[in-house]
Amino acid sequence: MVQRFTARAVVVGDRAGTVVPDAVLDVEDGLIRWVGPAADAPPAEAAEVTRLPGVLTPGMVNTHAHSPMVLFRGQGEGLPLDRWLREVMWPREARLTPEDVEVAMTAASAEMLRHGATTSVEMYFHPERIAAAVRATGARAVVANPLIGLPGFGTFEEQLDTAVRLTADGDAQVEYGIGPHSAYTVPLPVLAQAAAAAREHDLLLTVHVAETATEGDELLATHGVSVPRLLAAHDVLGGRVLGAHCVHMDDGDLEVWREYDIAVAHCPSSNAKLASGTARLRDMLDLGIRVGMGTDGPASNDNLDLFEDLRLAAQLARLRERDATALTAAEAFWLATGGAAAAIGRADLGQLTAGRRADLVHVDTEDIAFVPVGDTTDLLTHLVWSVGSRHVRDTWVAGRQVVADGTSTTVDEAALRADVQTRALRLAGR
Ligand SMILES: [Zn+2]
Repeated sequence: MVQRFTARAVVVGDRAGTVVPDAVLDVEDGLIRWVGPAADAPPAEAAEVTRLPGVLTPGMVNTHAHSPMVLFRGQGEGLPLDRWLREVMWPREARLTPEDVEVAMTAASAEMLRHGATTSVEMYFHPERIAAAVRATGARAVVANPLIGLPGFGTFEEQLDTAVRLTADGDAQVEYGIGPHSAYTVPLPVLAQAAAAAREHDLLLTVHVAETATEGDELLATHGVSVPRLLAAHDVLGGRVLGAHCVHMDDGDLEVWREYDIAVAHCPSSNAKLASGTARLRDMLDLGIRVGMGTDGPASNDNLDLFEDLRLAAQLARLRERDATALTAAEAFWLATGGAAAAIGRADLGQLTAGRRADLVHVDTEDIAFVPVGDTTDLLTHLVWSVGSRHVRDTWVAGRQVVADGTSTTVDEAALRADVQTRALRLAGR
């Protein structure tokens, strides 16, 4: 059975910012079969037709998140990073149970779907529970098994074995990856092993790189080279590698990224909130480096709203370059859709084109924020500059509706909210 969607316009999510007015989009078996102007649409006698008054956009791809951290949202506000970690985060995480992670991820996943993001790259404890949560809400995820040296989470070897074992349970909805935390917390030989395993099994390897100005100082003093060059020298780069943040990168570091085709998860809200710095987004794009937007964890952002990140990405790129053309609205939207899918190595996601998965978002345009529209591309401009996640009405993943009129169709968001509240207070020791 073909599902046909008609919409005021389809925003494709490509780099050029293509907008198809008066559009038809056909879905079959969870895939987009056809998309284009209604006047050219194939006959649809057997189709079930959904008529949407607004704009249809691709489900966004959040390339970097630790979403179960909704449990810690807003906690320790205003503390410097070291005190925030020692006094607020670590004591809470020490009490964390697998069930806490699953409940929190379910709530966060429902929130992301309601904000128009259908896929997220997750790096957090208890990956099987994260996967279960995502399957419950109907979203997609790349669940990167964390490699981190913390008591209670096994040796690095055990963590890597788990990561490889779990890949057998992966599919198009939940794909497993490997998430060594960083070069300053995970030994270089372990990073190299993880990278070899990722290449062998075609897994996404995602790692924090150059988030803050000083985190690589010790490695630099020991090895005499920056973290990006060190990763290259230890055979960590190559394959599907996604560096999170990549704020403090010099020309040589960016050249390494270009040479090895390393992608970047760009997280401007988190970088701004934690005063980490402003990534060289324009330079990365000019070098042909793949970049996708990420929210980072909701304890360091504090939202899971890619609309805010893509707008901030454009604003900060323009400020940094002192040039209002430094990042176009089309590029900003692409960084959260088609560009983000490319950054995580998923050519089946992120754009509304035939053959890709039918992850769709309906944005309500019956709002003053969408006025005026002279040229059709104004719709895309408004999406970036004047509209937010509050205008998302409906969301589909693989053609299945998971948000209807702003509410999850799969999980009870009110019950989850109460559950997260109770668990968060327990974790805080109250
Ligand atoms: Zn992170």
